[in-house]
Amino acid sequence: MKLIFLGAPGSGKGTYATRVAPAIGVPQISTGDIFREHLKNNTEIGKKIKSIMESGNLVPDEVVMEIVKDRLKKDDVKKGFIFDGFPRTLEQAEEFGKITSVDAVVNLVVPEKIIIDRLTSRRVCEKCGSIFNIMSMKPKEEGKCDKCGGKLIQRKDDTLEVIMDRLNVYKKQTQPLIDYYRKKGLIIDIVNDNPNASPEQVLPRILEKLKNIQTK
Ligand code: AMP
Repeated sequence: MKLIFLGAPGSGKGTYATRVAPAIGVPQISTGDIFREHLKNNTEIGKKIKSIMESGNLVPDEVVMEIVKDRLKKDDVKKGFIFDGFPRTLEQAEEFGKITSVDAVVNLVVPEKIIIDRLTSRRVCEKCGSIFNIMSMKPKEEGKCDKCGGKLIQRKDDTLEVIMDRLNVYKKQTQPLIDYYRKKGLIIDIVNDNPNASPEQVLPRILEKLKNIQTK
């Protein structure tokens, strides 16, 4: 199954994509994670995108398409994929449409107030990228990843100022994608307006809707 997860920063894209992917046997591909790896390893791409990412802006489409095309060369995408955080502009969606088909687009709809609270309290494992939340998805031991024991840190772009910028970028550049995919009949809306709902409560709703999806 070939899926895209759309939603504002903090809507839970990464959290749900990492849970749905093993359930349907496809890899989860986060372009944000790939870029963070480039930053960590100080690659040529990393140097090019550092200031853009830290300010909450979007990396240029050509750079994004380069890493996406590269990722699609790996064997594990033969059964499908979940893209999380890609596409983010109409241009990326159109380019992507030339390379591969998509079976469905999961659109996570979450009120802005919940998003802001969630992002300011989000923590990620520096080592394996697992996501926690000091309010709602606490690690067993403070500051330590449950999965690998790595240190939990706050992303540089999870400060209030950058979050507001990222939400504006989302409204301007990514929201038009919802119309684009809705016109193609691909959108599955998942509304989550309960700030206390755990991923385990929301996940079955997503999996249930995916049962009816025809793969191309
Ligand atoms: P994310 O982890 O998905 O929130 O992405 C973090 C940052 O990586 C974004 O704020 C952008 O700077 C960059 N990024 C990730 N995916 C894309 C994309 N598809 N297009 C442009 N920039 C991206």
